[in-house]
Formats: sequence, structure tokens, C-alpha cells
Amino acid sequence: MASIRKKRKAFVEQADCVACGCCVKVCPLEAIRIISGIMAQVDMGKCVGCGKCAKECPASVITVREVEHEKAMV
Ligand code: SF4
Ligand code: SF4
Repeated sequence: MASIRKKRKAFVEQADCVACGCCVKVCPLEAIRIISGIMAQVDMGKCVGCGKCAKECPASVITVREVEHEKAMV
């Protein structure tokens, strides 16, 4: 049996990211990093959807959205 739970996660519009690193500095969980020196990438396993990175992003390319997360019930 499984239940659907909603979780909040950050998503980066990578094509418009300017790799400034502001999001990386404010993330309390080190869940976002710059890859290849050109764009930010979110580690979905670590991100808790707090939205700090989205508020800080000067290019406004981060959005926090609810995603469905399936969790097995015991
Ligand atoms: S939403 Fe919060 S936890 Fe997720 S990447 Fe942004 S700052 Fe980090
Ligand atoms: S703050 Fe915005 S523009 Fe800067 S690296 Fe993060 S996602 Fe990219």
C-alpha cells in the first residue's frame, strides 16, 4: 500500500540561470550547487522547499512547487 504525500521542492529554470551562486550561499541544507560553472542544480533528496533560494535569486529563475511523493506504508 502506498500513500501520496505532497512535498515542496525548488526548481531552477536552468537556461536563464546566471550562476551567481546567491542561492548556494543561502540554502541551509546545502541542497543547491552550481554545476559545470554555468547553472544551479537542486538536490531533490536534500531540498525541503523552504524558498530561501527563490527569494535570493536576482534572476528570479527559482520556483518552489509542490510535488507528489509516494511513500510506502507499512
Ligand atoms: S528551497 Fe530551501 S532547501 Fe531547497 S534548495 Fe532552496 S534554499 Fe535549499
Ligand atoms: S541565485 Fe538564481 S541566478 Fe544565481 S545561481 Fe542561483 S538560480 Fe542561478
